[in-house]
Amino acid sequence: MPAKLIDGNLLAKHIRTQIAASAAILTAQGIKPGLAVILVGENPASQVYVRNKVKACADAGFYSVLENYPDDLSEVDLLKRINALNLAPEIHGILVQLPLPPHIDSHAVLEAINPLKDVDGFHVANAGALMTGAPIFKPCTPYACMKMLESIEYPIRGARAVIVGASNIVGKPVSMLLLQAGATVTICNSKTRDLGFHTREADILVVATGKPKMITANFVKPGAVVIDVGINRLPDGKLCGDVDFDEVKYVAGWITPVPGGVGPMTITMLLQNTLEAAQKKYQSLHA
Ligand code: NDP
Repeated sequence: MPAKLIDGNLLAKHIRTQIAASAAILTAQGIKPGLAVILVGENPASQVYVRNKVKACADAGFYSVLENYPDDLSEVDLLKRINALNLAPEIHGILVQLPLPPHIDSHAVLEAINPLKDVDGFHVANAGALMTGAPIFKPCTPYACMKMLESIEYPIRGARAVIVGASNIVGKPVSMLLLQAGATVTICNSKTRDLGFHTREADILVVATGKPKMITANFVKPGAVVIDVGINRLPDGKLCGDVDFDEVKYVAGWITPVPGGVGPMTITMLLQNTLEAAQKKYQSLHA
């Protein structure tokens, strides 16, 4: 395999050790970083994600609470709960696991989170601040992609970056972060004509479509860095990304695996944001 692996598990372990050390110092100073995770309904994938997040908090020495509500929770009741968490002094970060049931307006729910506790970085205030280059919190998955590039000391400035996928939670914000780091960025979506024409130009190729293995070797420039955000479950129960890893690893210069790539790093950046939220709280109390 000519491509070098960007090992998300290994990098996550390294960064989480640093986060745990900082959390221990903050806890000794009287503020234990605290995260509230809200899950509505019983989506099996969401249940796995929230369990992993809560476990990562415990491992890093954070306080965390998982609030699991039934599928028929009303939007009003969910908003009341968020309001209570906005005011709770032991909670520095609030995460609402998406997707929410269809009767709940996700937009209204995300907007109800205090931007200073919006550790997922989805609030419009954070999204807007990201556009201007000064987010309170960077959204976790885009932040994870940037950390993975940083880990290989990739020279982003002047590089051609192509993002396949333009969602609010991955494609658009990772494009902004790459642009701000000096890359020349192209964002593709499902309507893009001749996708391969764009992707073959990419020094950095970030893929977040939710389409299993759609990026095959012929979409990739030799030597490119390929970051696969996708998480898809195949009929045999195995996980795979949006990139055909077994093919692309022979063309790319660097590649992230699925599982063990962006996924564990996304949770790590959630811990990082929660730590920073708690540090900001400490600073506001001791200013
Ligand atoms: P969305 O469904 O919200 O967005 C998908 C984007 O991909 C859209 O912009 C869509 O275009 C575009 N797209 C779909 N098909 C194609 C295609 N054939 N060619 C080009 N573009 C296409 O997905 P998310 O961004 O939420 O998630 C993407 C993937 O990343 C999923 O597999 C998800 O599970 C995974 N994910 C992983 C995370 C992690 O921690 N590793 C975190 C978040 C997501 P259009 O705008 O035209 O519809």
